[in-house]
Amino acid sequence: MATPELALRGGPPVRRAYLVFGSPDLRDEEIREVEAVLRSGWLGTGPRVARFEEAFREYIGARHAMALNSCTAGLHLSMIAVGVRPGDEVITCPMTFASSANAILHVGALPVFVDCERDSMCLDPAAVEARITPRTKALLPVHFAGRAADMTRLLEIARRRGIKVVEDAAHAIETVHRGRKVGTIADCTVFSFYVTKNVVTGEGGMVTTEDPGIADWIKVAGLHGLTRDAWKRFSDEGYRHYEVTFPGFKYNMMDLQAALGIHQLARVEENLRRREALWRRYRQAFAGLPLTVPPEPAEGDRHARHLFTILLDVERLGATRDQVLQALHAEGIGTGVHYRPLHLQQYYRERFGYRPGSFPNAEWIGERTLSLPFSTKLSDADAEDVIRAVRKVCTAAWG
Ligand SMILES: *Cc1c(COP(=O)(O)O)cnc(C)c1O
Repeated sequence: MATPELALRGGPPVRRAYLVFGSPDLRDEEIREVEAVLRSGWLGTGPRVARFEEAFREYIGARHAMALNSCTAGLHLSMIAVGVRPGDEVITCPMTFASSANAILHVGALPVFVDCERDSMCLDPAAVEARITPRTKALLPVHFAGRAADMTRLLEIARRRGIKVVEDAAHAIETVHRGRKVGTIADCTVFSFYVTKNVVTGEGGMVTTEDPGIADWIKVAGLHGLTRDAWKRFSDEGYRHYEVTFPGFKYNMMDLQAALGIHQLARVEENLRRREALWRRYRQAFAGLPLTVPPEPAEGDRHARHLFTILLDVERLGATRDQVLQALHAEGIGTGVHYRPLHLQQYYRERFGYRPGSFPNAEWIGERTLSLPFSTKLSDADAEDVIRAVRKVCTAAWG
């Protein structure tokens, strides 16, 4: 059977209704809770944020959980909380979103990139060890796509060198590393509830820690540096004056956001099972195409299945990733790119002199990677459309 002409070249598209990448799966419970918040007259930080923090703390099994208005805010506060100061160095991975390294710069410290491994797409621990200097204050690993970075080796290196570890767990709410839940093993772990993430509050983030000193500091620093009683200022416990103890930040989460998070979190395991099924379906459906599907998690690990990233065999295809991305777009399928490596973004290139070749693994991935729609919002028919479109585009004559 002849392959139908690509929509890019005027053929019939696989879908007419565009499939948006990463659209959130919001249900009636969330909508009713948001309405209840609006009717309560209490939109800001209040009882629902407290409920969401408690539910999240319990889900992770962490001692402390502090809700904030983004993961980026959490990374920023965590840097300060673990003692990173201007001029210090923090090691992170270029295969990540801007926030991971931006947060290091926000405290006046220097991000030191270390390449990722090609298969896990997470920090290579052996390469980390080689880049540690007397100025290195912290490691900032990213659990890419929901796959655990090698925390055993990273924590061992950090402990031996007296360095702190802050995890970027934006993709990794459900992730387990060798039987230990991500969010309980590092000095600070930071999660994201951005619209595309596994738990959505619109904008939002959470820091977990086992350290009560860090927890208290982040609570205060996230709300202008006001004394903790300020959090009760708007409750019915009676008016209390606050004191400004230092110039903190405006990073608090609203009840309006937590209203979404409470119900999203209640479905987190059910949603993971759905994405695990979709993962298996995609892996099976793409066998034999000129692409590599993501690897299974290591023994004893649990993968949060946040992204399904394929690596296109661009040589065999005779097309670039961007051509495939545009072809899928024309077929009605929205995709994502996670990531074009951070060290080649303008600011990092210009300030630190990075160039192509600086981090070959991240660059190799950055040229081939494509994230397919993978939200629990997808119906079975949507998933079959994605499969048909990928097969169509990857079997087309590109040459
Ligand atoms: C989404 C994301 C962030 C930022 O999260 P926000 O909540 O939007 O601040 C940070 N790191 C990674 C790896 C992400 O994917």
